[in-house]
Amino acid sequence: SAYKRVHNFNPGPSVLPVPVLEQAQAEMLDYQGTGMSVMEMSHRSKEFETIIQTAEADLRELLGIPQNYKVMFLQGGASLQFAMVAMNLRAAGASADYIITGAWSRTAFKEAQKLGNTRVVFNGESENFTRLPEDAEMSFDPNAAYVHFCHNETIHGVEFKREPVVPEGVPLVCDMSSDFLSQPIDVSKYGVIYAGAQKNAGPAGVTIVIVREDLLARVPEKLPVMLDYKVLAESGSLHNTPPCYAIYITGLVLKWLKGLGGLTKMYEINRQKADMVYKVIDESGGFYRGHARPEARSIMNIPFRLPNEQLEDTFVKEAKKADLIGLKGHRSVGGLRASLYNALPLESAQALVEFMKDFQQRYG
Ligand code: PLP
Repeated sequence: SAYKRVHNFNPGPSVLPVPVLEQAQAEMLDYQGTGMSVMEMSHRSKEFETIIQTAEADLRELLGIPQNYKVMFLQGGASLQFAMVAMNLRAAGASADYIITGAWSRTAFKEAQKLGNTRVVFNGESENFTRLPEDAEMSFDPNAAYVHFCHNETIHGVEFKREPVVPEGVPLVCDMSSDFLSQPIDVSKYGVIYAGAQKNAGPAGVTIVIVREDLLARVPEKLPVMLDYKVLAESGSLHNTPPCYAIYITGLVLKWLKGLGGLTKMYEINRQKADMVYKVIDESGGFYRGHARPEARSIMNIPFRLPNEQLEDTFVKEAKKADLIGLKGHRSVGGLRASLYNALPLESAQALVEFMKDFQQRYG
């Protein structure tokens, strides 16, 4: 091909599908005969209306989003949702329950805590966030405004395999940023799902929020409009200028996913990629040590360690020379981390596996 592509294991922003980038390139100067780029287009134009509506329709189809849910394309990242969820869904005096399984759900909790009553029903911190809670360990408030959890902890590599069982009538709110669209999900089990796009869905700059309509009745009066789910949902994400270009690229990613065969097929491929890497870890006789307990393992982010930090540095440097990039672990966990998002080709996972085996032979 005409350009170099590396094996991109970055945790986010990360790899996008090549056909998506090629189409964006082809349409950069003249989007479908309009004589301009989507970047230069009015967000009130017919063309952009089609782009955003098609993106929403494709997302609804892929995830099977029921009719009584609104879809929003917002700005501010998943980090802003930590606060918006608390501001919109928790009436004055009400309390919300938080499940803390890693750095991101801990941050979500801390933001919510600044804004009102918040309880922790599980905190895996003393065990270094290596596992998920059992349902029986958690005692939920039956009157909680909502229960918040993070479906996949990007830094600690623990991923829920099914939704936690919460009291009847208490909505589940979920940060799905790093495994959004990686597998089928039963949206009807959730009150709110939010995800920064920059892992599986598209480029940074757009955050997808899916909210069950009846919850909009809870939104308090007089929130600043840009923080108000009701205003944003009712305007179809067009209260102000949306992140037009990021939404357009996200739309292309959604078409790519549909072409691939949807989320069941995507999950199969993701499972295959993750299994390959975990197999090398498990068969390394302790040379590679996975961070998460096996039953909690993520298919998207695989943090692991080597026998010492010097070897970890060597691993990152040599991997980079072999065009395997983004493998350094998060500064809070150390070690290494391989992120295997949707758009990472199977060949890249294979290249990593070969590199890991060879590295062990040379240094093990
Ligand atoms: N939640 C999770 C699970 C994440 O992985 C990240 C970023 O990596 C965030 C939240 C923060 O997202 P943003 O940078 O879009 O605010």
